[in-house]
Amino acid sequence: MAGHRASFPPGTAAEQRVDCTPVTPVAALERVVHCLDRAHDTGFKAKAFVRALEVARALPPDELAQRAKSDTLTELEGIGDSSAKVIQQALAGGDVAYLADLEAKTQVPITPEGAEYRGALRGDLHLHSRWSDGGATIEAMALTAVELGHEYMVLTDHSPRLTIAHGLSEERLHEQLADVAVLNERLAPFRILTGIEVDILEDGTLDHGDDVLSQLDVVVASVHSKLRMGGQEMTERMVRAVANPHVDILGHCTGRLIGKRDPSSFDPDYVFAACAQFHTAVEINCRPERLDPPRPLLQMAIEYGCYFAINSDAHATGQLEWQPHGCNRAAEVGVPLDRVLNSWPIEQLLAWVAGE
Ligand SMILES: [Zn+2]
Ligand SMILES: [Zn+2]
Repeated sequence: MAGHRASFPPGTAAEQRVDCTPVTPVAALERVVHCLDRAHDTGFKAKAFVRALEVARALPPDELAQRAKSDTLTELEGIGDSSAKVIQQALAGGDVAYLADLEAKTQVPITPEGAEYRGALRGDLHLHSRWSDGGATIEAMALTAVELGHEYMVLTDHSPRLTIAHGLSEERLHEQLADVAVLNERLAPFRILTGIEVDILEDGTLDHGDDVLSQLDVVVASVHSKLRMGGQEMTERMVRAVANPHVDILGHCTGRLIGKRDPSSFDPDYVFAACAQFHTAVEINCRPERLDPPRPLLQMAIEYGCYFAINSDAHATGQLEWQPHGCNRAAEVGVPLDRVLNSWPIEQLLAWVAGE
């Protein structure tokens, strides 16, 4: 894996795992949730562990230990047999069998060719935090990115129009920028770059003005509404967004959800030609339900000379491990690795997005 390893703040799950010291019950449960997330398990089991984690976090450690000893953990609402066992095994200081099994079963598959791309990645340019519709704090996402060997990540929470995802108003975005500045001091040399996943409105304008977008390091622009508009309208809408000088990356371009929603109609010749001309990278979205763009479109984008970004679009720490999905596809269709933005050193990336 590329990149350095920054040091972990003492006492975090990350540090404990690296040192192979026993984990706390909360850290063990956090890791269970992480593994279920990377396996894209959104069912009953995953929800139950998220709930158990909340309960364990809220309880004084003494009470948790006492209940583990007297075998009364399951009397707590939200703690079931499996989560009780994880807590007890963590407190016993030995191997947490349930977790060890899950670690092995939930590895994200990668091909030898894909591994070459993954090994070259230094960061992730599209991910969400609790500030919009993500499930983890910015800090938790950053610490996981560090563990994965990344040197940087771009925080791209949603813009205000996406109310369902608690999109950030200008005011909240400014609060977030202040938080990021503080975190960056603590996490150096790792770097959280500022960014946004800005909505492409129906006419191709964006859900924030120039004044806001110009303050951010990286801007991902995506279509999230009116995905079924006519092909010509959609083409004009996307080209207009791609041509906006603030836009650096076109997110999940077809909007498809595999098995659930067909790709939008647009003319890829116009859109990818515009991406190449206006220096807007085409995202290779790694979410398993998206895997967007589909292979034939990805091949077209290569031919147009586009740049790319292999992005997790993670909404939880475990999902930051999804980059192999995009790396496998990039390798399959032969994306030139030197055109993948997030394989570059941070200075090169920042110069490119600044238009140099
Ligand atoms: Zn999106
Ligand atoms: Zn997103």
